[in-house]
Amino acid sequence: MPRKKPHPASRRRFLQQAAAASIVTALPYRTAHASTTTRATIKNHAPLTPNAFYPLPLGSIRPTGWLRAQLQIQANGLGGHLDETWSDVGPNSGWLGGTGESWERGPYFIDGLLPLAYQLDDPRLKAKAQKFIDWTLTHQQPNGNFGPTSNNDWWPRMVMLKVLTQYYEATDDPRVLPFLTRYLACQLATLPSRPLQDWGKFRWQDNALTALWLYNRTGDPSLLSLVRLLHSQGFDWQKNFADFRHTERMTAEQLHLPEGGLSDLALSTHGVNNGQAIKAAPVWSVLTGNPADRAAIHQMLSALDTYHGLPNGMFSCDEHFAGPNPSQGSELCTVVETMFSLEQSLAILGDPALGDRLELIAFNALPGAFTDDMWAHQYNQEPNQVECSLHHKPWTTDGPESNIYGLDPNFGCCTANFHQGWPKFTASLWMASADDGLAATAYSQPPSPPRSAAFPSPSTKTPTTPSATASHSHSPPRRRQPFPYISASPPGLSTQPSASTTSRSPHQPPAPSPVSIAPGAPAT
Ligand SMILES: [Zn+2]
Repeated sequence: MPRKKPHPASRRRFLQQAAAASIVTALPYRTAHASTTTRATIKNHAPLTPNAFYPLPLGSIRPTGWLRAQLQIQANGLGGHLDETWSDVGPNSGWLGGTGESWERGPYFIDGLLPLAYQLDDPRLKAKAQKFIDWTLTHQQPNGNFGPTSNNDWWPRMVMLKVLTQYYEATDDPRVLPFLTRYLACQLATLPSRPLQDWGKFRWQDNALTALWLYNRTGDPSLLSLVRLLHSQGFDWQKNFADFRHTERMTAEQLHLPEGGLSDLALSTHGVNNGQAIKAAPVWSVLTGNPADRAAIHQMLSALDTYHGLPNGMFSCDEHFAGPNPSQGSELCTVVETMFSLEQSLAILGDPALGDRLELIAFNALPGAFTDDMWAHQYNQEPNQVECSLHHKPWTTDGPESNIYGLDPNFGCCTANFHQGWPKFTASLWMASADDGLAATAYSQPPSPPRSAAFPSPSTKTPTTPSATASHSHSPPRRRQPFPYISASPPGLSTQPSASTTSRSPHQPPAPSPVSIAPGAPAT
């Protein structure tokens, strides 16, 4: 379907046009508000503001080349074996009905394991994730609440909500929508007497994301009331960054951590909270349509860059704001949560600058935090990281183990949460555009080593070099090189630069591609 007018994301325009011409005509979208088939791209339903782009259902994008190899490394490493080696997500997990860890770690693990399993189409990984999902879906309480009964914290359930939306898009399991409907109704009824607090108060936007997702599938207006309630009870991130006062490196004394560490000051300057909050204003803007809400993300990113920016695209948080010195670091959870926030914000706003930052972080901050085989990771990584040791480091509140590569250095949150980084990046390489096109929203790397013959006419962009903080035999090459043209695998679509892409013969065989769009997607 030819586009009527070019999208302002000019950097990606030629790919969008080419992809739309070659794919969408053969695979028409299902864009209805409600559909009995989940292998569809569901758009925002009135009165929500339309997105610029819409993420494709999980499994629509199948990685090949270097990115597939990276996902396979993750599956062969800790990502595919964590439940066998770490009791917090093992058989005694509270999210499997056991008496073990019952807070965020089970949901964190599945939030990355599930997309990894479906992108690799790996039955072993699918079965692992399914155990957690089946226990969750079959143990909903009469009032609609779910999860381990040993706690009623809103926060870990927000993560499992994200898991279930992905799972539904991949499987069409008919249990999911009624389950989510009952839980979110329970939340709407309960929040007035048991409001958001602590982590949930600062992470309300992750909950709102699922409420909006469900509204687009059921049309239940009470879900919009829930989004308003979450916003009113949640921390006001826009106000915080409209008058940003945390412009210096935080200290433990300021944060009063010895007294508990959960004050609003500690939580509002906490790295992971801020990484998650990058999407707060864009998510809220879907409901309000307010231009100020849509613009607020740039004020937040600008403040983070100005006062705490690091050269790998991140802001310092070890684990609270730490200033711009490159010897300060960022927590791995913050890296993957920032990536997810950028992916969601890019979909809502369509600003290519968000895609640029996503790529910068994905190919710099993320891989440096792992060993080559992804069996060990750092809690905290610094751009100017000259040694990984127990020697004293200038971190704000992190412990001495934080940049050691290990199973759960410093604290186990990153052990459970890092899994979402590469899979969700993979899921965000292509998105549906609002006018039924297909947009190349983030670029992957080529197979390694790069084959220059496959990319004869480089062009528009050279990638940044990855972090030098660790050795990565499987990582993208460090030397600058031509950017590989993202391609789609359906016959008839070239991987060549724009001129040849738009003029190539439909019978010309496609060049090797780092990414493929699975047959049947995004069509129903
Ligand atoms: Zn963490």
